[in-house]
Amino acid sequence: MEQKETIFTTISRLAQEYNAINLGQGFPNFDPDPRMVNILKELADQKVHQYAPMKGNPKLISRILQLTDHFYQRKLTPENVLITAGATQAIFTAITALVNNGDEVIMFDPAYDCYETPILLQGGVPVRINLTFPQYRIDWEMVEAKLSTKTKMIIVNNPHNPSGATFTESDLDQLENILERYPKLIVLSDEVYEYISFQPHLSCHNREILRKRSVIVSSFGKTLHITGWKIGYMIAEKQLLDQITQVHQYNVFSVNSLCQEAISKFIEIDEVEALSSFFKDKKQLFLSRIQNSKFKILPSGGTYFQLLDYSNISDESDGEFALKLIKEYGLASIPVSGFYKDKSDHKVLRFCFGKDDESLIKASEILCQI
Ligand code: PMP
Ligand code: GLN
Repeated sequence: MEQKETIFTTISRLAQEYNAINLGQGFPNFDPDPRMVNILKELADQKVHQYAPMKGNPKLISRILQLTDHFYQRKLTPENVLITAGATQAIFTAITALVNNGDEVIMFDPAYDCYETPILLQGGVPVRINLTFPQYRIDWEMVEAKLSTKTKMIIVNNPHNPSGATFTESDLDQLENILERYPKLIVLSDEVYEYISFQPHLSCHNREILRKRSVIVSSFGKTLHITGWKIGYMIAEKQLLDQITQVHQYNVFSVNSLCQEAISKFIEIDEVEALSSFFKDKKQLFLSRIQNSKFKILPSGGTYFQLLDYSNISDESDGEFALKLIKEYGLASIPVSGFYKDKSDHKVLRFCFGKDDESLIKASEILCQI
């Protein structure tokens, strides 16, 4: 297996070294809600310092059940929820539990970076299919051509990092159709940006067949601006989740007790509901200011990422161009070729607009000078 630093780590390190505005790594550079931070401070004096229950804090699980009922009209029981150390651990644990030697796993490039390693460690075979460019849609005919009785899992990410592309009803239809024809296949649906969607989010929670056969992954890091707390969760039918829990109990056993308790006391449906308009305003602020720049703005329906095509400006590779932006202009972004196994370079950079307004304004001024 390749041993290398993740592109996010590399870019953040360079951003620091060159004192650049960091629109590279996806994390908010503003504080989370002070009320939640106060809850955390108060909890530090209480008896919440020992192991949380293995599957998660029951109050937090019951909050998750409320969210899932409210946003997806899906009524679940605590048996369907497993709280994890961020979405990364959820994904790692689910793949470890469900993928075995020789199993094929279909995944789509550009892909978030944590999918491949657990597949390889299990002796599984990643089957990578490039999304269309520049729409970043799944080519279902290509999927059809790669499906076989060896296919154990399809990993989908909606809304999609890095492109911001979102599913249509037809994507959900296609997935359901495949599940009906391949009875052993499981969908791992990475929906960490479910609440940062600028149109109604079309989740695997929405469909009957997908509910039964999907492991759906969420992250409070995205939803509450607390990426460093590393609290996420997954939802699946009991029989599927039981298999994953077998691995979870030896992988991490249980997750940070203090942070789980603080989230359970803070999170409200209203807060979550307000998230998409909060990020819509940020997106609008950023995009309105780079409208007249030489960068081409690619369409996106969700996440706090925006892809910009610089092919009108330079022929350099996206890695070279990203490095130049950091060193010469003081602005960090992520070269999208880093998300492709075949290093496809469409001359596109990813910018995170989940940042304070001052950073977005300064970044847009820089982009307009280039
Ligand atoms: N999946 C995607 C698509 C992500 O962008 C991220 C992190 N930004 C994760 C998973 C991991 O989430 P967490 O930080 O909760 O581990
Ligand atoms: N998910 C974040 C992003 O896409 C990065 C998190 C990480 O550095 N692993 O930017």
